[in-house]
Amino acid sequence: MNNDKYIGEAWTLEEIGLDPEERYELTPQEKSKKTREANVQKKKEEGEARIASGEDKTYNVLSLGAGVQSTCLALMAELGEFDAKIDFAVFADTQAEPQQVYDHLNWLETQVSYPIYRVTKGNLTEDSFEVKTHMKTGNKYVNNLIPMHGILPDGKKTAALLRKCTFDYKVTPILREIKERTEIKWRQNWISVNQWIGISQDELQRQKDSPRKWLANRYPLLERKMTRQHCHDWMEEHGYPKSPRSACYYCTFHNDAEWVNLRDQDPVHWGKAVAFDKRLREAHRRDNENMKMEVFLHRSCKPLSEVDFKPKDKDQMDFESECEGMCGI
Ligand code: SF4
Repeated sequence: MNNDKYIGEAWTLEEIGLDPEERYELTPQEKSKKTREANVQKKKEEGEARIASGEDKTYNVLSLGAGVQSTCLALMAELGEFDAKIDFAVFADTQAEPQQVYDHLNWLETQVSYPIYRVTKGNLTEDSFEVKTHMKTGNKYVNNLIPMHGILPDGKKTAALLRKCTFDYKVTPILREIKERTEIKWRQNWISVNQWIGISQDELQRQKDSPRKWLANRYPLLERKMTRQHCHDWMEEHGYPKSPRSACYYCTFHNDAEWVNLRDQDPVHWGKAVAFDKRLREAHRRDNENMKMEVFLHRSCKPLSEVDFKPKDKDQMDFESECEGMCGI
């Protein structure tokens, strides 16, 4: 019996002579909800007990971007600077990193005793030109994977358009690999993986709790209050070479210093970025039936080759709007 239907707005359970603490008859839906909740809780407690007794293992896994912070974290862990050891690291390859990042990764593999697994969803560069058809309208559109700036017909500029690359090409492949290697169980709701992420103090806002019940995010550089500069210093003090920045060579989140660096230090990838920017615009103009704006990689909404760069901050990428903290670290 549901008691609520007998109570008018002016009445309380006490006023009609019922004990508010006492449970009356449960509906079938309430009963099944209670049973479900009890089973979930029981499973969770069993899982936690297995971990506590050592029967099941807790894994420590590094999300490796192969940039400054995650490289520093990888090496600090290798030298035993934290209370736990890394079991393995995972690097998600968009296939669009500058060559120096791949070279750096090869070197890093020789410096650590744990395995570094490389995973990829595919070639982000080519996938960005894939033409799709809208299921409802039948309109054609270009796969909107990477962040882009746009200029509307009335001349108004837009902020970087929403994109899926971080989640699809970084976050998801890494989590899939972790799940497979740590044998996460179906609907597991107890934590058996600590994912180490190399976010530093100057990017505090990118810190997030994991929404997955089997995974806890850990930010060891934040525990030490280490900034990006501290990471550079630590690497230098320990005799390691400078780490490159890790990001797709055409990423919209490059600041001007980064674009200038690419143009002056890596002419091959600069040339590729200029060509990519042009091809992207042509593809959206030709194949995106609903797109009313011109798209650009640079926030000035000019072709890369025509931008008058104004480098200001020499050592920081514009990753404030990043969604999951997996790019650029
Ligand atoms: S570096 Fe930029 S383009 Fe590459 S996956 Fe991350 S956000 Fe996307």
